Amino acid sequence: MADSLPSHIQLEIVTPDRQVVHDLVESVTIPGKGGYLGILPGHAPLLSELRTGEVVYSRDGTKHYLAVSWGFAEVLPSRVIILVQTAERAEEIDLARAARALERAEERLKEFTDPTIDAERAREAYQRALARLQAARRSGS
Ligand code: ATP
Repeated sequence: MADSLPSHIQLEIVTPDRQVVHDLVESVTIPGKGGYLGILPGHAPLLSELRTGEVVYSRDGTKHYLAVSWGFAEVLPSRVIILVQTAERAEEIDLARAARALERAEERLKEFTDPTIDAERAREAYQRALARLQAARRSGS
């Protein structure tokens, strides 16, 4: 007899400092290296590197938004584990701080004409700030 599909996903989002999410959810979208991945209960197992972006999950029909930076996700049929360098729930995001970080990164990027390590750092800072602004705005914070 075939196993029945799970109805929910146990979602864990962890950074080196703290557990940010530990929740039973209906769906989750993660920023995979090759683009956003939508995951429902029963998804085939996979490991994915994550890029800086947004994680969106649904619980009791309500969407929750987070900004995450680089990391990895392990997807199992009834569990998704996300290990990232930083993660903030939309309501924790300081919009003014993210806007200042975006501006600083934009200024630094203007100063570089060829790719250097510092330009890469500025690009990463830019992506983190952008993800924070988008997650906070999309959640209506
Ligand atoms: P900043 O230059 O403003 O510090 P950053 O991108 O360099 O931004 P990170 O190194 O990614 O910051 O994060 C350092 C810590 O601060 C992490 O714990 C992260 O969750 C938190 N953090 C960074 N920016 C914000 C923000 N706008 N709102 C809330 N927490 C933030």
